[in-house]
Amino acid sequence: MRYPDRLLALIRALARLPGVGPKSAQKLGLHLAQNKAEAAELAQALEEVRRHVGVCERCGNLAEGPLCPVCADPARDAGVIAVVETAADVLAIEKSGEYTGVYHVLGGALNPLEGVGPEQLRVESLLERARSAREVILATSMTVEGEATAAYLSERLAGGPAKLSRPAYGLPVGGTLEYVDEVTLARALAHRQPVSE
Ligand SMILES: [Zn+2]
Repeated sequence: MRYPDRLLALIRALARLPGVGPKSAQKLGLHLAQNKAEAAELAQALEEVRRHVGVCERCGNLAEGPLCPVCADPARDAGVIAVVETAADVLAIEKSGEYTGVYHVLGGALNPLEGVGPEQLRVESLLERARSAREVILATSMTVEGEATAAYLSERLAGGPAKLSRPAYGLPVGGTLEYVDEVTLARALAHRQPVSE
């Protein structure tokens, strides 16, 4: 006996998601096959997100429409760009409530071992945007990958019109922004340090 093909297809799709291994995928698949109401709710939520939530065409943040709420807000200072790894980092900085500039979401950090090079990240569009910015804040994580990404970007952005800075983290090394409390994050941004070129 084996699982029905449709269930196998679901398990295979689940197993491709980040953080879900084959065991969890099988468990989730079996659960959904036996709980119709939950499966229907999940299917509807997936379809709603698929249809209506996408990526901001300017900064790469999450958006319901062509622009994200930050890019669409004329009160934000478009001359200051905070470069972050993920949309979760945008949310973390927004929660600190102190930042009034805009963002650029790279879509990850450089990680040669996992095949993530500059081409896999939103680097070219950042270089383009930086040409008309006063300041670019390299707010990538304090991880090895985040530091390498900040170093790479400061090299690429050197000599441009934008002043480069990096948040004065004083944060646990290895930390990603999403797990930093709001007060610490607000302080790190307020005391950002110029990056020497
Ligand atoms: Zn945006």
